[in-house]
Amino acid sequence: MDCPSCEEHIGWEWVEEEAIEPNEVFECPECEESLRYLIDEGTYLGPQHKTVEVVD
Ligand SMILES: [Zn+2]
Repeated sequence: MDCPSCEEHIGWEWVEEEAIEPNEVFECPECEESLRYLIDEGTYLGPQHKTVEVVD
């Protein structure tokens, strides 16, 4: 994913290593912005889609 604040790439491997769950607030390792991600469950049309957003 790309951080929506600083646009640096953050690997999903990092998210998994840090054991960050969906809807859980975490800090971008690059800019320390508070972020969270959501998972839209996949439909028969395709795989899961993850959305990353800045937490206000
Ligand atoms: Zn960032």
